[in-house]
Amino acid sequence: MNKSNELFNESKQLNSSPLERINFNNKQFFIKRDDLLHPYFSGNKARKFAYYLHHDFNPITKVIGYGSVQANSLYSLAALAKLKGWQLDFYCKPIPTWLKATPLGNYAGALSLGANIIEVNELSSNLETHVESINQHLAQSELLIPEGGRSHLASSGVKQLALEIIQDCQKQKIENPLIMLPAGTGTTALFLQRFLPYQVLTCACVGKNEYLEKQFQSLEPNSSRWPTILSTSKSYHFGKLYPEFFSIWQSLKAQTEIEFDLLYDPLGWLTLEEYLTKTPTLRPIIYIHQGGLKGNESMLPRYHRKYDT
Ligand SMILES: *Cc1c(COP(=O)(O)O)cnc(C)c1O
Repeated sequence: MNKSNELFNESKQLNSSPLERINFNNKQFFIKRDDLLHPYFSGNKARKFAYYLHHDFNPITKVIGYGSVQANSLYSLAALAKLKGWQLDFYCKPIPTWLKATPLGNYAGALSLGANIIEVNELSSNLETHVESINQHLAQSELLIPEGGRSHLASSGVKQLALEIIQDCQKQKIENPLIMLPAGTGTTALFLQRFLPYQVLTCACVGKNEYLEKQFQSLEPNSSRWPTILSTSKSYHFGKLYPEFFSIWQSLKAQTEIEFDLLYDPLGWLTLEEYLTKTPTLRPIIYIHQGGLKGNESMLPRYHRKYDT
C-alpha cells in the first residue's frame, strides 16, 4: 500500500476491541479494551484518527500537529503519518533539556517513527499564535490536525466504537449501562454520547469543567446532547502527581491485571468511585480504556521517584 508496510505487518485491528468483565474493589465493571487496538495508537486516538486512515487525502504529503511533547496524540500522529507515508511536523513548547538528552515515552516513540518535532520559542510567539499563523498559510500538500484530534472528522471512528458497544451489550446481555470515560478535549466522550442510546459520564482531566464545556460547545452547540460531567470533591491539575492517583492505578493493576494510563485514568476511576458511593446504582458500568500506555513510560519513573522509595 505504501512504504510503511512494516507498521501494517505488526498492526493489529483498528476496531472491534473486546469488552471484558472485571471486579474492582468488590464491584463489577465492564472494560472496553481499546488499549488492545494497536500498539502505535493510544486507544481512542485510533478511533479519532480512523477517518484519516481510511480516506485518501491527495495531494497531502505533510501533516501538521501541535501540543505537548509528551502527549499520547503526538505518538499516534507520528504513527498515522508513517502509515500514510506523510511527513509529520509537530510544534511544541521548548522541550526540557533532560528529556532531549534521554528521550522516552511518547516523545521517543514519535522520534523513532520519524516525526519532525519543532520547538516554538515562547519569546517570539506562543504556540497557539504560531500554529494559527501556520494554519493561515497552509500549502495544498499540508494538512493541519487540531490538538488532540478535536475535530468533526473524529466522529466516524467514535461512531464505530459506539456501534461496537451496542453490539457488545446485546451479546453479553448488558442492559441500560452507564458509560464512563475520562476526558481531555472531550471529543471521544462527546461523540460517544451522540451515537449511544446510553448515558455517558465523563470528567474533566485538563482544566476545569467550564473548559470541557467549551470544548463540547465547539463540536456540539446543543448542550442537551453533551455527556454528563462528574466532579470529585478535590480538584486536580493535569499532569501533576498525586498519591491517590498512583494508589488507585496500582490497585487496578493488582486486582484486574490491566494496566491503565497514568494521566487520565486515575482521575477517571476516582471520579467514578466517588460517584458510585454517592449515587449507588444497579446499572452495569462500562469503563472505556482509551489506551495511552506509551505515556506511562515517562509517568512511571516520575511516580517511582516521588512515592516509591
Ligand atoms: C487522548 C486521551 C484521552 C483524552 O481523549 P479526548 O478525546 O481528548 O477527551 C483520554 N485518555 C487517554 C489515554 C488518551 O490518550
